Amino acid sequence: MILPGSTIGILGGGQLGRMLAMSAAYLGYRVHAFAPDADPIIAQVCNRYISADWYDVTALKAFADACDVVTLEFENVPAAPLQPIADKLAPHPRALAIAQDRLAEKRFVEELGGTPAPYHAVESRDALLEGIDRLGTPAILKTRRDGYDGKGQWRIGSREEAEALDFPGTPCVLEGFVTFECEFSVILARRADGAIAFWESAENDHADGILARSTLPGAAIIGEQVGEARRLAQAIADKLGYVGVLTCEFFAGKHGPIFNEMAPRVHNSGHWTIEGAATSQFENHIRAICGLPLGDTRRVAPRVVMENVIGPASATAYEALHDPAAHLHFYGKTDAPEGRKMGHITRLEWPEEGPA
Ligand code: AMP
Repeated sequence: MILPGSTIGILGGGQLGRMLAMSAAYLGYRVHAFAPDADPIIAQVCNRYISADWYDVTALKAFADACDVVTLEFENVPAAPLQPIADKLAPHPRALAIAQDRLAEKRFVEELGGTPAPYHAVESRDALLEGIDRLGTPAILKTRRDGYDGKGQWRIGSREEAEALDFPGTPCVLEGFVTFECEFSVILARRADGAIAFWESAENDHADGILARSTLPGAAIIGEQVGEARRLAQAIADKLGYVGVLTCEFFAGKHGPIFNEMAPRVHNSGHWTIEGAATSQFENHIRAICGLPLGDTRRVAPRVVMENVIGPASATAYEALHDPAAHLHFYGKTDAPEGRKMGHITRLEWPEEGPA
């Protein structure tokens, strides 16, 4: 067990790391962070910040030596330079290696009995056209690596569009377009001894490929499919010997849950848990990686809605506080270009006046 007072290392400098660092501080841990950026937002809330390249193995090793356990908030940390510090890492970098490659991830999930969207590996324009002929249109071409929030994705409406596409020149995977009733995520926390806790699955609405809103309770179909989705998420976590919070995103399809992707970390669709659950994803991640008992994950209000504050809309987001049910989080970012996640607002809603 890594006791309060010890030092937790976080790889990555964004808002997920910032919220992890704040939960760690509540529990009395010190936090060191490591990322390539000069002045990341995590540096506003941690004890020590190291700015170095992901491939600077000497700096990484020194960082890990100063920490009792190291975790991550960003899944695109290159997995190879992490090998020398793998023993200190939770989750283990093997989870990263799978999650960083959409093709490896789909194959891994299929081996465990899961169903991803129909897909075709694409290394060239010819393979893209082959994939279009096999899967039909519309389809989505996604880079195998480094995509997030809809980046590195091209929607293809016809074979002609595929022929005209400026092919990205990096390994990709073509996905058939899935029709679904809604999207949901399974978020779990797992300890090294295999103990697991799940949060309720939120219904997630996206706009322009970016999460816009998570709502609980979600559509009835989520309740019908969440058991199967949880079994798959648990099988993934067990197979990887996963330690920490793991997120798996699903489409609620006509015939059952369709696996979209996994994130080996806390997730935007779990931000509602800060006020909306008895224990947040951030706190349980810290507890899991430190070997502490996991906290109760139950929802604490009849309805919980989390909305992201994205881009220039952040200028007036404080007005949400006129509603006493609203909790506003800002991530400490100074520039607010279109599409940038600046903060979020969580509302705990009770019928009538709410709790006494
Ligand atoms: P991703 O980055 O892969 O999670 O994609 C971002 C969003 O695009 C998803 O949350 C879906 O709303 C949509 N999307 C991605 N892949 C598919 C697919 N194969 N079929 C339909 N919609 C998709």
